[in-house]
Amino acid sequence: MAYPLPASVRKQQKSVRTFVDQELIPHEIYAEMHEGEFPPGVQARLERQVSDLGLRAMNIPRDLGGGGLSFLEQAVVSEQIGRVTNGLGWIVTTPARCIVEAATPKQMKTWVEPTIRGDRSECYAITEAEAGSDVDAIRTTARPSSGGYFIDGEKWHVTSFNHADHLIVQAKIDGGPNDGAHALFFIDKDSQGVDVLRTPAYSHTYSHHHPVVAFNSVKVPAENLIGREGQGMNFTHDWFRYERLMIAARCCGAAERLIDEASSFAKERKAFGRPVIENQLIQAMLADSVTELWAARLMTYRLAEAHDAGEDVKLLHAQCSMAKLYASEMANRVADRAVQIFGGRGYMRENVAERFYRELRVDRIWEGTSEIQRIIIAGQLAKRGAGALVG
Ligand SMILES: Cc1cc2nc3c(=O)[nH]c(=O)nc-3n(C[C@H](O)[C@H](O)[C@H](O)COP(=O)(O)OP(=O)(O)OC[C@H]3O[C@@H](n4cnc5c(N)ncnc54)[C@H](O)[C@@H]3O)c2cc1C
Repeated sequence: MAYPLPASVRKQQKSVRTFVDQELIPHEIYAEMHEGEFPPGVQARLERQVSDLGLRAMNIPRDLGGGGLSFLEQAVVSEQIGRVTNGLGWIVTTPARCIVEAATPKQMKTWVEPTIRGDRSECYAITEAEAGSDVDAIRTTARPSSGGYFIDGEKWHVTSFNHADHLIVQAKIDGGPNDGAHALFFIDKDSQGVDVLRTPAYSHTYSHHHPVVAFNSVKVPAENLIGREGQGMNFTHDWFRYERLMIAARCCGAAERLIDEASSFAKERKAFGRPVIENQLIQAMLADSVTELWAARLMTYRLAEAHDAGEDVKLLHAQCSMAKLYASEMANRVADRAVQIFGGRGYMRENVAERFYRELRVDRIWEGTSEIQRIIIAGQLAKRGAGALVG
């Protein structure tokens, strides 16, 4: 039974799926063996295709140069992108829309519009050694001085720093009337005092690194402040909501690919004289996987539609946690079962199940761990009751 997607969305789903199948998936094994990179000369061509498909800055309104997709369309696109390993799907870009909305005309010209066009690229620096789930515990400070701020601190896991040319950094105001308030700043990567301390290796093989970055008295003009002092946490929550929905969508795509690949293999692979799919123990793994995928997909599409309908943001916040929690844990269970179905082949890096088994693990951690999602959900449940959360 197909979800009742509008015909235009179904058409878009089909064209992105074709792009993923023909242009991205064939490069996965090369990327796995070459630190997450595309083969030489491929990336620029694919970026043009992404642009032609309307997927560059797909979440940004068309009049600002973005793709102008609805949330439902973005969820459907992200789901297809999620079918690819090695972060190759990150060729589709989604600059933070809340920052676009808050940016001044000068910030639009300097950072935002070039980022939408694909001429510049950003990364986000919020987490610190002593502050991950508890964002309010950050110690990075922005000390007001004449005409601007001095930023001091150290950020961890700064994803895409190696590809970016500027950062969006969260700091606490140190002094003045808004002492202790959170704020976000644009900081050019080549600013004096921005230093990479180290670039640790992570489980996945992505071309995007996650270094530890120090800010040593980085002088930032006042015009780099995003919005107002005190708005930092609002922007971050807005970004979390969006990313949690898109993580849910990507996890659905990953699970679908894994189920397709594992069931094809199980139909072909023979043991004890018959295809392994004829064994009920294998059938149960596939049946549980596809059932859970259906549940996660229904949640994700419905939640995307609720965003398009502009439903109550507090409910959406909790429901994004529910979708991210369920879909990420579902995809991890599916990956584990897929490795098992592939047997020894499932432990080889050239196998999609092995790669997803490593890659999907972080979806239970970043943009808020599963534990943090449960806390958010339980908080809204206590305040509003189950009926409000699940209709
Ligand atoms: C690959 C990768 C990329 C990332 N990219 C970025 C990025 O680009 N920018 C950025 O700013 N950050 C990034 N992060 C950071 C990520 O968002 C954090 O790792 C995540 O929010 C968890 O924080 P933490 O690692 O400090 O864990 P902690 O907060 O230290 O948590 C440790 C454990 O305690 C649990 N825990 C914490 N509080 C509670 C509680 N109240 N109740 C129950 N359990 C609790 C957690 O769930 C977890 O299991 C990235 C992380 C990874 C792994």
